[in-house]
Amino acid sequence: MAEQSDFQPFKRLALIGIGLIGSSIALRASRDGLADEIVVYTRRAETLEKARELNLGDVYTDRISEAVAGADCVILCIPVGAFASVGERMSEHLEPGTIVTDVGSVKRSVIDQLLPHIPDGVHLVPGHPIAGTEHSGPESGFPTLFDNRWNLLTPLEGGDEAATERLADFWRALGSQVDIMDPDHHDRVLAVTSHIPHLIAYNIVGTADDLAEVTQKEVIKYSASGFRDFTRIAASDPVMWRDVFLHNKDATLEMLGRFSEDLSALQRAIRHGDGDLLFDHFTRTREIRRGIIDAGQEVAEPNFGRYKTDT
Ligand code: NAP
Repeated sequence: MAEQSDFQPFKRLALIGIGLIGSSIALRASRDGLADEIVVYTRRAETLEKARELNLGDVYTDRISEAVAGADCVILCIPVGAFASVGERMSEHLEPGTIVTDVGSVKRSVIDQLLPHIPDGVHLVPGHPIAGTEHSGPESGFPTLFDNRWNLLTPLEGGDEAATERLADFWRALGSQVDIMDPDHHDRVLAVTSHIPHLIAYNIVGTADDLAEVTQKEVIKYSASGFRDFTRIAASDPVMWRDVFLHNKDATLEMLGRFSEDLSALQRAIRHGDGDLLFDHFTRTREIRRGIIDAGQEVAEPNFGRYKTDT
């Protein structure tokens, strides 16, 4: 049963890229009638065919000109390394009044790549839904992905406020809560909350794989002792994450410096048998998890509710 929303639907919503995020937007928008027409663009024939099989839109095309023509909202759902070339190709086909937005995990680089290709009268309102899974591709989307998750919009200074408000309403209709943030601040916050944790997971899983004295069989067999939770994150899409690190270089390196210093302090405490420092540190971090649960961003069940939810 479709939920009621007082959002005035977009006439023609163009989704540029139809992986996990694009398909989740498509499914929710069509379920709740948030667009009269959904246009699906993707570059590869097999992805377009998969989107068609899954009935994700009304129009399917591998031509960007056709996708954005007549659209009142264009959402770029592609890796952050692809924005400049896609922006250049769509630029002359955008119509005045159109809202152009995105879902990229980095904001400053996306703005730098896109802004030169946004014609006068077209409203660029960048955004980032803090929602996802380790799966990718059009078959991995689901309509409730954004429920109760934050979407951070990073509008440009002097940009059209009505366009930002309309986009915020759209994301609320998709189930999200919306916050407005400065793009550079966004990149620093996300470096700590998302990018560094992914780097740590990629690193520890790689280290375990490389260890000569612990066999791969043992790593897998005894993985429930902590390692398994890192492997979920380390299974995330390599193209997406390569691009995140290349395009959020400064903030990631800065936070990584802080992280390394703190790690050295823990290393020193272990070496010197400083149990008080370890205990105090682990007590403080436990509180942070409780805060996340209280904020409704995680379930309190053991094992992350692994056997109870599908996300
Ligand atoms: P995905 O499932 O891997 O889908 C990627 C889409 O982008 C596909 O349609 C793919 O097209 C297209 N694409 C890939 N490389 C391209 C290129 N060089 N030029 C043009 N199109 C290209 O990706 P996703 O997980 O939906 O992520 C999309 C965006 O959302 C990324 O910017 C990511 O940072 C952001 N994001 C992701 C998550 C997450 O958890 N996954 C969460 C929040 C935000 P073809 O298949 O036709 O090649």
